[in-house]
Amino acid sequence: MQAYSLIAPAKINLYLEIIGDRPDGYHELAMVLQSVALADHITVRANGTERIQVHCNHSEVPADQTNLAYKAVALMANQFPDAFSQFGGVEVTIDKSIPVGAGLAGGSTNAAAVLVGVNLMWGLGLTQVEIQELGAKLGSDVPFCVAGGTAIATGRGEKLSPLPSLDSLHVVLAKYRSLSVSTVWAYKTYRNQFSSSYISDDAGLEERRQRVHSGAIVGAIAQHDGGAIGKLLHNDLEKVVLPEYPKVTQLRETLQLFNSLGVMMSGSGPTVFALAESQAQAEAISSQLRAALPDPDLEIWATKLIANGIQLAH
Ligand code: ATP
Repeated sequence: MQAYSLIAPAKINLYLEIIGDRPDGYHELAMVLQSVALADHITVRANGTERIQVHCNHSEVPADQTNLAYKAVALMANQFPDAFSQFGGVEVTIDKSIPVGAGLAGGSTNAAAVLVGVNLMWGLGLTQVEIQELGAKLGSDVPFCVAGGTAIATGRGEKLSPLPSLDSLHVVLAKYRSLSVSTVWAYKTYRNQFSSSYISDDAGLEERRQRVHSGAIVGAIAQHDGGAIGKLLHNDLEKVVLPEYPKVTQLRETLQLFNSLGVMMSGSGPTVFALAESQAQAEAISSQLRAALPDPDLEIWATKLIANGIQLAH
């Protein structure tokens, strides 16, 4: 087939703990990642040339080789040169719904969708694990975005252990359109302020990695206990992002006024989310938030947790 359309969901972090530094310059993390129904639509098609082309309907998303979707095609072309010369160049079209620079892994999920789509289009027959291994070369969140659902992520975020699905829960996402936070800035600032508490010995790192597997939030997820999950939400990056972005702090405090399971910033922000036990509760939170902060710059989505990553669009 010449073209594939895919759905590329966003992710939120139910838990994000920074454990220490790694020899490769990244941080050692312990996270619980969760896919949500808010998604971009990606189309990959053979363009009959030797070039890679990217189109996106969002002005802040680059259409050149810095786009993660472009990098994903380039990686496939590099890894599978015979298929690239047989099938030729690829045109990627990104229909963006996920806000950009939001802490929702928008770029990573686009790259994941391109890997899945090109694998199908070129008939490569790669397994999900093989696609995830390729994805890890593009970014730490890409392997999770391929499989999605609910998972523990350790290492840079690329070592995954699946958890039971939470797809009965809902979530409200809120972000100021004009605010974005650089992920690189957030981690660098965290290192500047908190590296004295980093664990550096191998045994200590392994112990902390293991601790998340038996941690309270993982236990609450296994029990499907939405109330407990809401109370155990955690994100170390709040310590650097909230003081620097007072509007995000105010948004978080406002969301906490309403009846929800729990409130937290996602990833490096500035998106803040409120977990909800039902669609009705999510809709109530959305309208209360809109009434409390009637700023046209504030975007709000009532959506749900889902049990999958990249899927073919029907
Ligand atoms: P993460 O949660 O993985 O840190 P994010 O949600 O904070 O990511 P993205 O939306 O992925 O951030 O965008 C970060 C930057 O990456 C943007 O400023 C944009 O210039 C660039 N970028 C490259 N490719 C894409 C893409 N396909 N979609 C969105 N942004 C992209």
